Amino acid sequence: MLKDVLSTRLAALELEDLYRNLRLVEGRQESKVVIDGREVLMLASNNYLGLANHPLLKKAAQEAIKQFGCGSGSSRLISGTMELHEQLESRIAELKHTEAALVFPTGYHANVGTISSIMTRGDVILSDELNHASIIDGCRLSHANTLVFRHNDMGHLAHLLDSCRGYENRLIVVDSVFSMDGDIAPLDEISTLARQHKAWMMVDEAHATGVFGPNGAGIAEEFNLSSEIEIQMGTLSKALGGSGGYVAGSRELVNWLINRARSFVYSTALPPTVTATAIAAIDIVSNEPKRRQQLRDNADFLAKELTTLGYTLANSRSQILAIIIGATSQTMALAAELFSQGIFAPGIRPPTVPDNTSRIRLTPMASHTPEDMEYTVSAFAEAGKKLGLLS
Ligand SMILES: *Cc1c(COP(=O)(O)O)cnc(C)c1O
Repeated sequence: MLKDVLSTRLAALELEDLYRNLRLVEGRQESKVVIDGREVLMLASNNYLGLANHPLLKKAAQEAIKQFGCGSGSSRLISGTMELHEQLESRIAELKHTEAALVFPTGYHANVGTISSIMTRGDVILSDELNHASIIDGCRLSHANTLVFRHNDMGHLAHLLDSCRGYENRLIVVDSVFSMDGDIAPLDEISTLARQHKAWMMVDEAHATGVFGPNGAGIAEEFNLSSEIEIQMGTLSKALGGSGGYVAGSRELVNWLINRARSFVYSTALPPTVTATAIAAIDIVSNEPKRRQQLRDNADFLAKELTTLGYTLANSRSQILAIIIGATSQTMALAAELFSQGIFAPGIRPPTVPDNTSRIRLTPMASHTPEDMEYTVSAFAEAGKKLGLLS
């Protein structure tokens, strides 16, 4: 029977410390949450600016329900395009300095649908080895030849571009902020290579939207490259505190996706509540740059203090701090010890990250206080000593 086969497979995962459990978070997504009946500091959420429970987002959702109801009825092409979708898309295009934008049900849908509709058999995709799973799945679905370059290794990317001169269509795709290491792609160098080799460029700004750039548009804005990057993708689900994905770029790009991206065409449109929430979140990102600064201050403080304690951080340059432990069992033991001290920051292990690079992924929020950050450092000091991870 299927359930017996699955039970054997699950037991094998458990033996390798790879079994995953869902943890129930009681109440709201805030900087402190209740898990397993205990109040803990939430240091694992992508709700970076603390907007998931912001009064203006909640108000926008309530008003959207009153005016537009709950469901969107169908796919955008059938009967699902509503006023709020158009409003949100013009706000995104404005924020991203692009001609147009298109929203998808999730960021995952956006990556899978975009890559697989633009690239096809006989084309080539150059993809960073640490790109998000949704990019990898989009590449697989496209049936294009996918060449994976070593993480942020421009020499390797240049070499691969040289090796595929025979292809007519070439796409370079990268995360701008890498989700498990927190480092940043050298978009300026990538864009120079793209120009030299007449390749197209796609950037996934999931962790950068609302966080980086003078207006919170992301790393492309920080590098002043918005007009060079053909496809700018991101999510409404992280710093923007809601749900949904987007692609911003030319009018032709958006029209193509409306016609051909299967995850757009064959999936029901974002509901009014979620759409209205994203508009409210973009307003806050535009009006309150101080939130981005608070987030940066919290991340800088943790990075500095944890390094001083003797922990090894990956090359983290963002609000995502990867504290590399190595062995999965030690990582999970540290996560458990931190939890017992009131810190929720789960261990990340293979297959999400490469073997022997298991880590604690720590993501502070703008809404954490200086006291929260100091407490976090003291908990890491104590847990590290207790487990013999620090000398
Ligand atoms: C989270 C994430 C996605 C997917 O976005 P969802 O809205 O959660 O589906 C895509 N790319 C990256 C880099 C991400 O971190």
